[in-house]
Amino acid sequence: MICLEIIESNQYNRNMEYDVIVIGGGPAGASSAYHCSKLGLKTILLEKQVQSRDKPCGGALSDRCLPLLGENARNAINCRIEELRVYSPDLKSFRFVKNQGSFVLRRVFDQALVRDAQNAGTDIRYETKAISIILTLGGMYTVDVISAGQKEQAVTGRFVILACGLQDNRLIKHIKDKNGNYLQAICPQNEKDYLAICMNSESEIDNNLLNDSESGFTPKTLGIFFGAVPNGYGWCFTKDGYINIGVGCTASLLNQVKIKNAYDSFLNTLRVAHIIPQGLVLNSPRVYPLPFKHTARETVFGNILLVGDAAGFVSPVTGEGIYYSIKSGQLAAESIFNNIKHNLSLSLYQQKWKKAFGYDLNFWGFNLRNTIYKTKERMEFAVRLACIDLSARKRVSEMIMGKRNYKKTILSSLLILPQCILKFFYKK
Ligand SMILES: Cc1cc2nc3c(=O)[nH]c(=O)nc-3n(C[C@H](O)[C@H](O)[C@H](O)COP(=O)(O)OP(=O)(O)OC[C@H]3O[C@@H](n4cnc5c(N)ncnc54)[C@H](O)[C@@H]3O)c2cc1C
Repeated sequence: MICLEIIESNQYNRNMEYDVIVIGGGPAGASSAYHCSKLGLKTILLEKQVQSRDKPCGGALSDRCLPLLGENARNAINCRIEELRVYSPDLKSFRFVKNQGSFVLRRVFDQALVRDAQNAGTDIRYETKAISIILTLGGMYTVDVISAGQKEQAVTGRFVILACGLQDNRLIKHIKDKNGNYLQAICPQNEKDYLAICMNSESEIDNNLLNDSESGFTPKTLGIFFGAVPNGYGWCFTKDGYINIGVGCTASLLNQVKIKNAYDSFLNTLRVAHIIPQGLVLNSPRVYPLPFKHTARETVFGNILLVGDAAGFVSPVTGEGIYYSIKSGQLAAESIFNNIKHNLSLSLYQQKWKKAFGYDLNFWGFNLRNTIYKTKERMEFAVRLACIDLSARKRVSEMIMGKRNYKKTILSSLLILPQCILKFFYKK
């Protein structure tokens, strides 16, 4: 486990000196490294897993990511999403057909993101785990690493970007401030309230099986099933030759829900509704946590910046995290560059992500999530309202696909709410 305790020392090896050390090779780390290198900063990325690592994920990518990607990542997109299907707990559904968003396979996409960083000039070290960050008296950070169980030469840098996702984030709270107090970066008092727990599997599928199915699910469909689990949703993404199925809900409900039972029962629902073929063989599902409530209060500690899941940058409504990881990586890189070149405060990073997406997630997204997910009846009502009104469908679909932020969705939906409710009761 990484120990992110900072201790004062004046010993470090000058041979391995960088402007920026990035810890973690997921979307947040790779994007940070890519943008740092593009800005001319000497950067190294440390990733503890192998190059072909695979992250449990739905792999839906909103279009706002595209301008932030390098060439390899853009070419690694599996397919465009052709249609969105949204289901209520009682399986009342609507379709929204518009070429919007893409699907990626994470084991392919993440490697491509890292390759873009490498092409921009970043030194990449796979199978290299950061185990401690030491603040030297000269103001540099020394990161101790192990590779294949062996302690290796430490890496030294002026800035550290922590992009270690949720796996090592619990230890982030071991960072001490200058008074020796532990900084509670994320994961406040009750971790379970803060996290969502997801279970998913990704498997190959013959597209013809979907074309023949009664449900009319196309091989490039993003299907969301509200209420498949209490306080959460299930998904079925068909990614042109692959199928990704999963469920996610607040971790504090885990005892009640038993995530594996919820996953099995969701699979059964999909089979009974003929959305997936009866005999389809799926790979074993994997469980993974996801930050699901608020972003971190603090994301800058000295010259250490938090990005991506490590900073809690995930939508509390949809669980989308790839965009926020990639965007925060870009903002962190720019903030470091401006600190070095123009002496601007590093805390501008905090202001920038709040402006770019933080207020939207923490206020509008958080309130929307609390309103919609509270009960099955509310989820049912919301989807049924959208079913009967095209402009409501458009708003919900564009929000899910990351085209409309939560503030815009909520405010514009309030305007059409009376007409939707009238239509709803008239139809009844
Ligand atoms: C089941 C599931 C489905 C999801 N579906 C979607 C989706 O469809 N669309 C979407 O946008 N988001 C989705 N998300 C969220 C998305 O996966 C995350 O938000 C995103 O992966 C976060 O990227 P990251 O780089 O911050 O962290 P990660 O992708 O978790 O990467 C962190 C990396 O850091 C490495 N690391 C950790 N500790 C160390 C260390 N000490 N030294 C070196 N390396 C270290 C890890 O090995 C890992 O590779 C989903 C999440 C889950 C769990």
